[in-house]
Amino acid sequence: GENTLSFVSAFAAPLLAREQRRFIDEHPETIRRDKALREHWLNGVPMHWMSDWQLPAPLIVRAASGSSFVDVDGRTYADFCLGDTGAMFGHSPPAVANALKHQAAHGFTCMLPTDQTARAGELLAERFSLPCWQITQTATDANRAVLRWARALTDRKLILVFDGCYHGSLEDTLVRLDRGRVVTRPGQIGQVADFASYARVVEFNDLAALEAALADGQVACLLAEPVMTNAGMVLPEEGLWAEVRKLCTRHGTLLAIDETHTLSSGPRGHAHRLGLTPDFLIAGKAIAGGMPMAVYGFTAELANRMERLLETKPAGHSGMGTTLAANALATAALVACLQDVMTNEAYAHMLKHAATLADGLRERIAQRSLPWHVTTVGARSELVFTPTPARTARESLAAASPMLERLLHLYLLNRGVLVTPFHNMMLVSPVTPAGQVQALLDHFEEFLHELS
Ligand code: PMP
Repeated sequence: GENTLSFVSAFAAPLLAREQRRFIDEHPETIRRDKALREHWLNGVPMHWMSDWQLPAPLIVRAASGSSFVDVDGRTYADFCLGDTGAMFGHSPPAVANALKHQAAHGFTCMLPTDQTARAGELLAERFSLPCWQITQTATDANRAVLRWARALTDRKLILVFDGCYHGSLEDTLVRLDRGRVVTRPGQIGQVADFASYARVVEFNDLAALEAALADGQVACLLAEPVMTNAGMVLPEEGLWAEVRKLCTRHGTLLAIDETHTLSSGPRGHAHRLGLTPDFLIAGKAIAGGMPMAVYGFTAELANRMERLLETKPAGHSGMGTTLAANALATAALVACLQDVMTNEAYAHMLKHAATLADGLRERIAQRSLPWHVTTVGARSELVFTPTPARTARESLAAASPMLERLLHLYLLNRGVLVTPFHNMMLVSPVTPAGQVQALLDHFEEFLHELS
């Protein structure tokens, strides 16, 4: 395996240079506008992650619709990145666009419930089997609130996460396991507080370590994705979650499941598919069709305790919530998305075409006997440059091949197909046509041909 990889890498550098030249040649308007953008935006972008795509200049989107977008050079892309899942259900789903248009004429925000809020609650409770909910603007904020509530309700200071997790830019979870010690993640800017002292971190799929971390009854909350999607894709071993659920209950630790990325697994998320019943469930990004909105749900028992806790506190400054959260516009989008976009038919389409994509990639890998594999989680597929799936984030991250990933990303982009940068994640939306899946497979085939 390693030999093949270094062999492939030798070809990657010149190919990457060629593809970069091609990008520049074919994007004169993008390059021109990039210069103008750099006048007033940091690194030429309004949010610095946008320059992490490692392109000669960031794509500038003229318009996005369904499973495609057009850039300012007039080039069209089949979009399998979908805003890193924010647009999981396609760009501007008509039901959400119409709801926004209607609500836009009736006020954006009053910091009060609207006549849609009751319906939104019903839809969430029905879908995710948790009775009580709160809304935030981002998944980061929803996770932040969940950790706050969990610490307050259990009167415990520590949280537990899996090594390699990502739950947004909340510092509590930006911790790593480093030779058995918890450390703050490198890369953080301007953070001086010591969050590592309030977190425990264990490897995914390591039940013994998890049990040891919970045993002294000091952990308020385990926050986890049902499948790790932010360090490559790491699947839970058979029976993992049933054991984790038991351990959390036994040790009085609340279990919070972050479904932000795994909403693509099925209409009720991934935890439901596993038969897992969390104490808190978090979903963001795509839950309102890509409008800034996230939600967290919890059990009736927790809701009771939360209400009683609020009664004991002076009003205001809880450290949770932001002024525009649950605004009228986003609430309208949430109702439309839950009711008319996240339908069983939509999921059937996503899962069917994602399976075609994953099978097609696997076939092409097998034909060339490449030591690679494809991991699928619902409508998400990830191409990994190792022969077998990783058991932990550490293994998964060690298997990453940044040069090859970057090359494949740019190679496909230059041919009108966009996959998620860094990790080769490909997400199929309810409106992705079979032709776009086929185009991805055809260009992947060409790519392999060039590499060999
Ligand atoms: N949870 C998970 C699992 C995520 O992957 C992310 C973002 N990638 C977040 C939460 C945070 O979402 P946001 O950046 O919208 O706050």
